[in-house]
Amino acid sequence: MKPHDLPHTVAELSRYPSAPQVRPLADILPDDPLLMMGAGPVPIPDAVARANSVVINHLGATMSTIISQVKEMARYVFQTRSDWVLGVAGPGSAAMEMAICNLVEPGTKVLCVRNGFFSGRMGEMARRLGAEVVDFDVSANTAASAADIERALDEHRPRCLTIVQGETSNTVFNRELPAIAKAAKARGCLVIVDAVCTLSTMPLEMDAWQIDAVITGGQKGLASIPGVSLIAFSNDAWAAIDARQTLNTHWCLDARLAENFWHKGGYHYTAPVSGVLALHEALRLVCAETLPVRFERHARCSLALQRSIEAMGLPLYTPPQARLNSVIGITVPSGIANTQVCAHISSRYHVEISGSFGLPIVRIGQMGEQCRAHNLFRTVHALGSTMRDLGAKVDLPTGMAELENCLQGAREV
Ligand SMILES: *Cc1c(COP(=O)(O)O)cnc(C)c1O
Repeated sequence: MKPHDLPHTVAELSRYPSAPQVRPLADILPDDPLLMMGAGPVPIPDAVARANSVVINHLGATMSTIISQVKEMARYVFQTRSDWVLGVAGPGSAAMEMAICNLVEPGTKVLCVRNGFFSGRMGEMARRLGAEVVDFDVSANTAASAADIERALDEHRPRCLTIVQGETSNTVFNRELPAIAKAAKARGCLVIVDAVCTLSTMPLEMDAWQIDAVITGGQKGLASIPGVSLIAFSNDAWAAIDARQTLNTHWCLDARLAENFWHKGGYHYTAPVSGVLALHEALRLVCAETLPVRFERHARCSLALQRSIEAMGLPLYTPPQARLNSVIGITVPSGIANTQVCAHISSRYHVEISGSFGLPIVRIGQMGEQCRAHNLFRTVHALGSTMRDLGAKVDLPTGMAELENCLQGAREV
């Protein structure tokens, strides 16, 4: 086409509304970045940030090497020998939906163990697929009991059970997950576990605990970016997927289509290459640290944070027997709204923490880089000062001293 054949001249297109004039990011983002100590997204290590700035071909030899390393490292992190590890372009909820939509068909009976907001989401997703969902509501502030769930399994005979390892919304830890999974498998029920906030912060042994699908997001325990997630299916789960009678209605999340990319070097959709590279680096750092050392760092930091908050005079929301270490819930003194606390600690101290979904608590994460001594000191100081600024009575020096005492003598954190 010669220039004079162009269909429009600039003048002819003057009918377009004028392009928006916006502020560049540098004017919007704070000069002093906020310390991200909420329930996710969490701070990312430099290696992850650098990887996230690279774009490569989503197919071909380089990507193939990266994908195979991601799968190998993910198998270690999930503690599984299963080959059926796949990445997902999307949030933790997309990985969750991938687990559900591949294992659930219309009419499938699903027992949804509901501790709160996130665990309930799996039941919602199953219901949308036409599954017959039985909600098993666990009372507030308690972990799911294996004995109670065994009875529910006998009563309802579900094909799938969904459960969360750590319920981020109300900071409950389902410590009986191994016994619950075992009871379900003994009854031929597939076990789907949400480990979005817990993976790589505390033990999860997919094979030893007989879990059929584990899902995770990037931006929590793994300390990667949001938007690229991981899922692992057991051989039993994969056999169930292969034996499906109905077509998966989610094209992007169809595990058998995803297999083309994650196992056969072919095309499914254009993979989020930068995010996969970021995930690679996040996993590599987990492997370099090793799971046992990483678990210890998380436990030590989280417990020190819990002790110091209590020593300051602020009550923790969840009792110790059901308390999650990956995300800590703190009851806000009466007369103060959790939204006030979050706004003040952010604007005055540049520390970001989370409110909650209707509960009178604020939440502080202990995932990845959040579990470092320097971040803990800054956070505890900011939290205590915020409470004081808002008129609550707290003993900040005692809280700081308790943090120091708890971390003292620890392996470097
Ligand atoms: C954050 C979270 C999710 C949802 O992850 P998104 O990336 O926001 O979709 C699901 N489950 C748990 C336990 C979580 O902490």
